[in-house]
Amino acid sequence: MYVRIHDIGLYLRCPMLVYLESMGRECFRADTERTILRYIALYSAPEDLQGDMSKAVKDVARIHRIPEEDVIRSIDAMRGSISRIASVPRELLTPCDIEVELRSERLGLSGILDRLVRPERRRGLLGMLLRVDDMIPSLVRTGRSPEEGVWRRDRIQLAGYAMLLEERFGVEVSTGQVEYVRDGEVRRVRIRSLDRSRALWVRDRVREIRDGEMPDVGIEKCSSCGMSGICGVKSCVVSRML
Ligand code: SF4
Repeated sequence: MYVRIHDIGLYLRCPMLVYLESMGRECFRADTERTILRYIALYSAPEDLQGDMSKAVKDVARIHRIPEEDVIRSIDAMRGSISRIASVPRELLTPCDIEVELRSERLGLSGILDRLVRPERRRGLLGMLLRVDDMIPSLVRTGRSPEEGVWRRDRIQLAGYAMLLEERFGVEVSTGQVEYVRDGEVRRVRIRSLDRSRALWVRDRVREIRDGEMPDVGIEKCSSCGMSGICGVKSCVVSRML
């Protein structure tokens, strides 16, 4: 059975989340603001992001079944982020394919990549000197960006997508990027062999959890976790300590 790159991300947040999902619990459903930000980042042209954005409002309301007045209110609250999205240099994001489905039986991985950027090749000597990959996997993230680089979880998920792209297209993928859309930042990173190994290691742990193995987790992150109400780990650990 395939392990989704999404599951790798869940495991890296907390292995218990993989267990909860395997029990049929939905972990981290995106809220209205994040849903809208993600839609705008992927589907809106920069010139559409000015003024009343009526087309985006109608589309988001229809696709995600959110009342139009809620969409308008959220967009008004996110004007700063939206103008930062509009100012991202287009050559970092285009030409591209969006929401690319990938899977590999050999790797045992699958996923839907947010954006696959296909940089134009420069011609002549400059092209040889400034050689870039034929394709760059790009993740859209609606949370805050780290001070520099990308979050470790994003880097390891990028490594998973890079391996899937290499398998499907027979090319080398050595660079990935993360679009932190709330901050209007696009951060590029090298994809390291360590991250590839880590992605495959997590894939194996996810399989074990799905086979019924209970993950061993700490409670350091529980106080800020949206699943703490139903997870039960914290109260278990605390009662063992008493
Ligand atoms: S409440 Fe704690 S143990 Fe449970 S999923 Fe969240 S972080 Fe993990």
